[in-house]
Amino acid sequence: MDIKPIFNKEKGTPILIAGPCSAESEEQVLKTARGLAAENIDLFRAGIWKPRTRPGSFEGVGRIGLKWLQKVKEETGIKVTTEVANREHVFEALKHNIDVLWLGARTTVNPFSVQEVADALEGTNVPVMIKNPINPDLKLWLGAIERIYKAGIEQIAVIHRGFSHHGNIGFRNAPRWQLPIELKRQFPKLEMICDNSHICGRRDILQDVAQKAMDLDFNGLMTETHPDPDNAWSDAAQQITPDTFGNLVENLVLRTPSSNDAAFIETLEHLRSEIDEIDSELINILGRRMKIADKIGLYKKENNIAILQTTRWNEILDKQISKGTNVGLSEGFMSILLRAIHQESINHQAEVMNKAQLEDMKGDLS
Ligand code: PEP
Ligand code: MN
Repeated sequence: MDIKPIFNKEKGTPILIAGPCSAESEEQVLKTARGLAAENIDLFRAGIWKPRTRPGSFEGVGRIGLKWLQKVKEETGIKVTTEVANREHVFEALKHNIDVLWLGARTTVNPFSVQEVADALEGTNVPVMIKNPINPDLKLWLGAIERIYKAGIEQIAVIHRGFSHHGNIGFRNAPRWQLPIELKRQFPKLEMICDNSHICGRRDILQDVAQKAMDLDFNGLMTETHPDPDNAWSDAAQQITPDTFGNLVENLVLRTPSSNDAAFIETLEHLRSEIDEIDSELINILGRRMKIADKIGLYKKENNIAILQTTRWNEILDKQISKGTNVGLSEGFMSILLRAIHQESINHQAEVMNKAQLEDMKGDLS
């Protein structure tokens, strides 16, 4: 795919997309846009058709809202975008000269819906932004990009809005940064925008997540803004005023991803080679550890003992987690690391035991 950028901004100048979660009234839409005009945003967003998790919530003002977006453009000169989820949305949005369309997370997740939108886009050249699907499935995200691209849309950007999960993790949607990072690795030129609002679900951590996105070389932000966030008709807890959005952008630290300074490059190269060496050592050590697990597997098989011994495993966890925290590793990281190593060990032991069992059976038969 030869995807073209939508925004094409210089490195170090983030793409800024802001506006309310939902268009509620002409007055609310224009008030938000006037506030944002001072913040030099690239695109004004507002949801007209709202995919809500449960029925009975506000489901958007519908077509009338497109007229309000047109007014935003006339009055402020800012380009506008809205979410489309079916054929009718696409036709209506194009009829009202909406500059950029976006696919929501609940649409990306469904290939039938994506294809319906893609078919409706055929023969047009409106730029499209594609949010990640609600579940952490990179192929599904890629599939949506491919469907839209195949419909002849060349200008495509992606929006990372986090992934559904169960339980309280402090985010509304789990960021799982490794997924957008992998997408960026495969398509380095793809413009990647962080929707910090839907990741956070709450205002107090919007700045941290926006900073993290900048540090991970994202190209921009999509942030929900409302003149009176507490009284917003949807997503009230995560919206901020245009002024607060201005402060958020001002407080971002934009670090350049590369430098031409020879001394800097040399020091960085040196540190990276140290990391590479340590990584190789770590892998060798893990390989050695698994060889011992193989021996234990055989030994257990010979003595007819089960693989998993909970007391031993609890002892390892307690001892090593506290060792880890003593050298500055977080408890969460230590727990994930030890569990992954333990799982691999169990797999090794099981494989060795099964193989030996098979050999025994062969022996019995011959
Ligand atoms: C939105 O941007 O308002 C929205 C509905 O987002 P998502 O598709 O990410 O849930
Ligand atoms: Mn929203």
